[in-house]
Amino acid sequence: MSIRRRRLDIPELPGGLEIPYVEVAGAQSGPRLTLLGGVHGCEYAGMKAVRRFVELVDQAELSGSITAVPVVNIPAFRERTAFVVPHDRKNLNRCFPGDPAGTYTDVLAHRVFDTFVRGADYLVDLHAGDLPESLQPMAIYDESPVGDRAREMAFAYATGHVVRLSPQESNIAGSSSAAAAAAGVPAIIAEVGGNGVLDGASVEGHLRGLRNVCRQLGMLPGAPEIPEGQTEHHGWVWMYTPVGGWWEPQMQLGSAVKEGSLLGTVSDLYGDVLYEVRAPEAGVPLFVTSSPAVAGGGLLLAIARPAR
Ligand SMILES: [Zn+2]
Repeated sequence: MSIRRRRLDIPELPGGLEIPYVEVAGAQSGPRLTLLGGVHGCEYAGMKAVRRFVELVDQAELSGSITAVPVVNIPAFRERTAFVVPHDRKNLNRCFPGDPAGTYTDVLAHRVFDTFVRGADYLVDLHAGDLPESLQPMAIYDESPVGDRAREMAFAYATGHVVRLSPQESNIAGSSSAAAAAAGVPAIIAEVGGNGVLDGASVEGHLRGLRNVCRQLGMLPGAPEIPEGQTEHHGWVWMYTPVGGWWEPQMQLGSAVKEGSLLGTVSDLYGDVLYEVRAPEAGVPLFVTSSPAVAGGGLLLAIARPAR
């Protein structure tokens, strides 16, 4: 039994990069679970939960091993950069499994994927809304030959909303969970918290999800506590504004909307409405840009589609 503090060194990146992580070995043999936090640099609830979970876990009770990386995207964390890696402005969660011959983010993705995901039995990638983003807690998994096991993990995370994505949802191609699924590793992206806030309730939400997933995988004793009435969604619509300006949402995250209902407006700085945002189809808004400042072509929100 041991908890080992380790470090992934990536000297081939300009300036070099060191990513701290820990390995926790259980008293009994079992699966290898990887926890990633901070794939996006300002999603603090997930980062804290990764660190806290391995502090709390009782190794005598643990079957298998946990590799836990509290902050993957060290450059974005240091620079406090939302969504992207500052060096090349690429979104790390669109670059997996990475490319050793690519730009900074591709190389980072490649080394992270090879070190922590390939060879793992399961992956939980912990996220939150980023600095200008609010969201309803959700667990996302991908359709794949290992999709059934990923779906069980997503329900065990107990966020209330589970989103199944098909390979055709190209707006998040290259995500950690999609690349893991393609490598045969059941994986979920777990979203709790947001807006650059480190709040105890969101950290606790992630911790409950991790405990439940470990129980469900047989790594911790006891049955997972999975609430009744969680909603599964099949894919989602991401909505963008054609014009820049002042964005004000007029809907409730997690509450169903009908086709055509008003979701918010984009105005000019006098307050004159330039663009009314209406639901193109029925569904449930699960995340929204919470900052009023939006650029033309900017992302506003996502509506999850009902399960088919
Ligand atoms: Zn994220």
